[in-house]
Amino acid sequence: MDQISIEKLVVFGNHGVYPEENALGQKFVVSITLYTDTRKAGRTDDLSCSINYGEVSQFARQFLEDNTFQLIETAAEKLAEQLLLKYSLLEQVEVKVEKPWAPIAIPVETVSVKIKRGWHKAYIALGSNMGDKKGYLDEAVEKLKQHPLCQVGKVADYIRTEPYGGVEQDWFLNSALELRTLLYPEELLSLLHKIEAEAGRERTIHWGPRTLDLDILFYDNCVIDTPDLTIPHIDLQNRDFVLIPMAQIAPYFRHPVLGQTMAQLCQLLKMNL
Ligand code: ATP
Ligand code: CA
Ligand code: CA
Repeated sequence: MDQISIEKLVVFGNHGVYPEENALGQKFVVSITLYTDTRKAGRTDDLSCSINYGEVSQFARQFLEDNTFQLIETAAEKLAEQLLLKYSLLEQVEVKVEKPWAPIAIPVETVSVKIKRGWHKAYIALGSNMGDKKGYLDEAVEKLKQHPLCQVGKVADYIRTEPYGGVEQDWFLNSALELRTLLYPEELLSLLHKIEAEAGRERTIHWGPRTLDLDILFYDNCVIDTPDLTIPHIDLQNRDFVLIPMAQIAPYFRHPVLGQTMAQLCQLLKMNL
């Protein structure tokens, strides 16, 4: 991805753990790399197709002067988040915050924190087989739309499906959606659990009836195996109620481990059923 760099912007802020730092303030040096596609701006010579680095510099200075954080980690984190939310052309951003006058008792030229943050694309499976099924799915889509760090893209048509996993229970309403998010995978899982809980989800029988089930199918092309999180979702290739909605909204998206697209996996499963 193309980069626009702002190097060593000097700002005067009050960040620090010590009360003296918060009262007196000190110098901070900020460097920002904006990751964005500059092709269109490069070919048209039109600033509205790019990100204005002058404006970003002003914004960064204002933000770091108006807010006070204890840690430069937080200053960098919050600034990166604000920039990603403010500039729609910004895909990723690197922020370095240096504190050359940091109060440590030994001579040092500078100390700094450097982070890289960006938008991620996830796919979420939705399911309900209790009560007002459509209402639960609509509510989940709406809550994701309302979340400040999430943007909902395509939402698949809701489909009626038969229960899976051998437990005798009512039919399901299923869907899948595309999500652009600044949340990390574990944070996204917590958000989904919160939305499930707000829908009155109770975990009793495994694969049993539920008001709302939200699973992370994919998160970029990441492969994650931890006790609480398996991405890509471990069983999606065997589930028509996942593959039919995914083939509708992302037919060309390729499973990062199995190597086939959603349309291909959907077709394969149909042939084997
Ligand atoms: P299945 O995962 O087979 O669809 P389920 O959705 O009914 O079954 P739950 O009871 O909703 O299972 O979830 C059990 C646990 O699965 C969650 O608490 C979560 O920690 C874990 N989990 C692992 N990977 C994922 C994922 N990709 N998305 C959502 N939950 C996951
Ligand atoms: Ca599930
Ligand atoms: Ca689940």
